[in-house]
Amino acid sequence: MGIHKIQMPAEILIGEGVTEKVGDVCKDLLLSGACLLVSGPKTMGIGGKRVSEVLSGAGYPVETEVVESIEKHELGKLIERAREYRFVVAVGGGRVIDIAKYASFRAGIPFISVPTAPSHDGIASPRATLSENHTNYSFLAHVPEAIVADTTIMAKAPQRLIAAGAGDMIGKLTAIEDWKLSSKVTGETFSDYASALTLLSANMVVDSAEMIRNREERGLRNLVESLISSSIAMCITGNSRPASGSEHMFSHALDSILPEGRRFHGEQVAIGCIMMSYLHGLPWQRIRATIREIGCPITASELGVGERDIVRALVLAGNIRKDRYTILEQKALNAQTAEELARKTGVIA
Ligand SMILES: [Zn+2]
Repeated sequence: MGIHKIQMPAEILIGEGVTEKVGDVCKDLLLSGACLLVSGPKTMGIGGKRVSEVLSGAGYPVETEVVESIEKHELGKLIERAREYRFVVAVGGGRVIDIAKYASFRAGIPFISVPTAPSHDGIASPRATLSENHTNYSFLAHVPEAIVADTTIMAKAPQRLIAAGAGDMIGKLTAIEDWKLSSKVTGETFSDYASALTLLSANMVVDSAEMIRNREERGLRNLVESLISSSIAMCITGNSRPASGSEHMFSHALDSILPEGRRFHGEQVAIGCIMMSYLHGLPWQRIRATIREIGCPITASELGVGERDIVRALVLAGNIRKDRYTILEQKALNAQTAEELARKTGVIA
């Protein structure tokens, strides 16, 4: 066995009001000099302003950049700007975190992640999802130096975002099956540790479904800790293999054929997971019931997409990442078998 290098966040703070500690975290990390705070139009008010005040109070000069688009070609200016600072702090949802993570990586400066919603597991992972010509791709970036996950802020996130985060976690059930399958068929390296950690996290969300739906503090904390643990599993492997399989390819395929809309990544992943569970021979009805329980859509119409689009995305999904072997490669769905799959699992009527 060769050398295995693992990069992890140096500090993770989870709890009520931990935003107030962000200055202390920067000091613990021995960060000095000016900070570029990246936030979104809405999340600036939700947490960005307060984080900026806390950092200023701790003696850090702070300037702010409000971002929205995740188009990769629009990031050049932000990368240039980031080079003028000593570190980047991102306060926002998945989009903001991904943009800031990638820009700080390209600028070669440390990155601190302050998520405002538990909506996906990019919170702590070394990867960033960005768009190129309106299609989302996952790019290598770097691991956040610290994660400051304030459950007081996250508890106020829209229910749909919380459910989407849980949906993204349930998607790991099929991601791990795909990885196991690939290790058998292609000989791809499989990590017992990373897969066990991911499954533990996914099952914690399954067991907490009711508490998550009811927005109970314990349920929310379990969800946030699961998302972070899943990210840590990605830090262990250095890629997104433990967290992203055929269910994610289905979601990426939907993104590539549909214009941007009010659909969330985790919702699409959850629907993909129902269908991929069926293909893998997992207890898909139970998985679907859990997804329903946490409040994620389980049908095309609930997701707000056409039935044709589901079928098209299923056919396309197998070609979305040729370097990643999944059940889709084995099943090689065509328009007819894809439609049958979507119908059998109740995703289309
Ligand atoms: Zn995901």
